Amino acid sequence: MSRRRLTRQQKARIAAIRERRLHQAQYETDNLHVSHDGPSREGTVVVRHGRSLVIADEERHLVNCQFRQNLGDIVCGDHVIWHSTGDGDGVVTAVRERTTLLSRPDYGGHEKPLAANLTQLVIVAAPSPAPTGYLLDQYLAAAEHFGLKAILVLNKSDLLEDVDHELLHRFETYARIGYPVLHVSTKQHSGEENLRSSLKDESSILVGQSGVGKSSLVNMLLPDLDVQTGALSKTSGLGKHTTSSAMLYFLPQGGTLIDSPGVRSFRLLITERAELEQGFREFAPFLGHCQFSDCRHEQEPGCALTEAVESGKIAGWRLNHFRLMAQALGKT
Ligand code: GDP
Ligand code: ZN
Repeated sequence: MSRRRLTRQQKARIAAIRERRLHQAQYETDNLHVSHDGPSREGTVVVRHGRSLVIADEERHLVNCQFRQNLGDIVCGDHVIWHSTGDGDGVVTAVRERTTLLSRPDYGGHEKPLAANLTQLVIVAAPSPAPTGYLLDQYLAAAEHFGLKAILVLNKSDLLEDVDHELLHRFETYARIGYPVLHVSTKQHSGEENLRSSLKDESSILVGQSGVGKSSLVNMLLPDLDVQTGALSKTSGLGKHTTSSAMLYFLPQGGTLIDSPGVRSFRLLITERAELEQGFREFAPFLGHCQFSDCRHEQEPGCALTEAVESGKIAGWRLNHFRLMAQALGKT
């Protein structure tokens, strides 16, 4: 037997031993590390840090929990079943079925979950910095895609001196096609009550470009922000600002707000043309009525969407933004 062959066999044996050890270690994490005998209880994931979770129990007390590997990727907002381990901590043993899951593709193209059980996307814009291109339409298409309600917040309304502002016209269109539009100024605290009632009993996230006032809105909506983050760092043993993952906050009027730099700047990557069409809700009555079944809604004769623009049933800029997004499909 040559030396080379021996080495190969040795390598294979070492690899087999390593594999067995890995399995053993996995088995131990899955089955051994926590014993519990408490009754099963309900909880909501407030934040995930590494292999641990902080959950809020039914009375909103925070509990640090371990979870078993075979439960998969648990994220902020997940509803879980957990048991006390008797030392103030807990173990999560099951994850309830999610109603919605916000995700984004990672660098390898796999969908990475960001937040579970959201009900609404709060899209924030301002006169300054004005929304660029089709960003707002992209967020709206994301809301349609993930099955979330969407509301539009026009913040810094104190800067809207010109009643003929282009942004106001765009927002009138959004309102007409059924998206609630709220005028808010965190500076003057105007529109605050309307915003609060729109967030009541919902699970929301704020999205929008940098500088439009998302931090200011979070601070306005959560007067006890410091208390909530303080309680969290005490429970998790982590510093206050060590986590960049999504975090769930309880709103004083009821409902939750999930926030993190990661979810604030999330972008939807729609890859299918049909999916993009569904992202523009006012297009629905016209889809399938073009002369050509594979109509791209560009220059084709008999395009039902182009005709809808001509007869004033669809805003021309919405179809333009759709076209720009369609041209970008697959290029990102
Ligand atoms: P974010 O990047 O979206 O989180 O935006 P910030 O909350 O950091 O706000 C960006 C800037 O806009 C800050 O200088 C705020 O003081 C300012 N700002 C926020 N809300 C308002 C508002 O309602 N009116 C005005 N005039 N400025 C605001
Ligand atoms: Zn068409």
